Amino acid sequence: MTVSAFIGLGANLADPRAQVLRAFDELAHLPQSALVARSSLWRSAPLGYADQPEFVNAVARMESALSADELLDELQKVEAAHGRMRSFANAPRTLDLDLLLYGDEVRSTPRLTLPHPRMHERAFVLKPLVEIAPDAEIPGRGSAAACLDALGDQHCERIA
Ligand code: AMP
Repeated sequence: MTVSAFIGLGANLADPRAQVLRAFDELAHLPQSALVARSSLWRSAPLGYADQPEFVNAVARMESALSADELLDELQKVEAAHGRMRSFANAPRTLDLDLLLYGDEVRSTPRLTLPHPRMHERAFVLKPLVEIAPDAEIPGRGSAAACLDALGDQHCERIA
């Protein structure tokens, strides 16, 4: 049995477009998993700490036989391979991978919260998500498209 999972990708250092494109290829090679859709690349202004380059964001859809914890393990290995250093919250990073949705699972454990707790308020997540999954539902929040409509104007545009 496989589960449909959505991964949020973000990068703003060391050629962010190349980081995100390479991450798509790495996601395509995860064990017991298939990459079934990849969004366009989107450009967004940094949240929080503003004095840093803009972000490149995208969303991937996977079908995976891995558990949610195993999938997060794999995502963290890919992040580590991109040389990410955890310095401070919202700091620049070469690659950030978030597990946005894992089927319709809802949980809040120290290591993993599903759905991702901030995805419904971020245009840079919702725009690429709705691009590849117009009917996506965020458990407890309603449709991704409705969440996007409810957001104020957040700068985020498609670049490729
Ligand atoms: P961040 O620095 O924002 O990428 O957060 C990474 C931390 O968030 C890791 O320690 C994860 O264990 C935790 N985390 C909790 N929920 C999630 C999720 N849905 N996707 C990715 N990381 C998560």
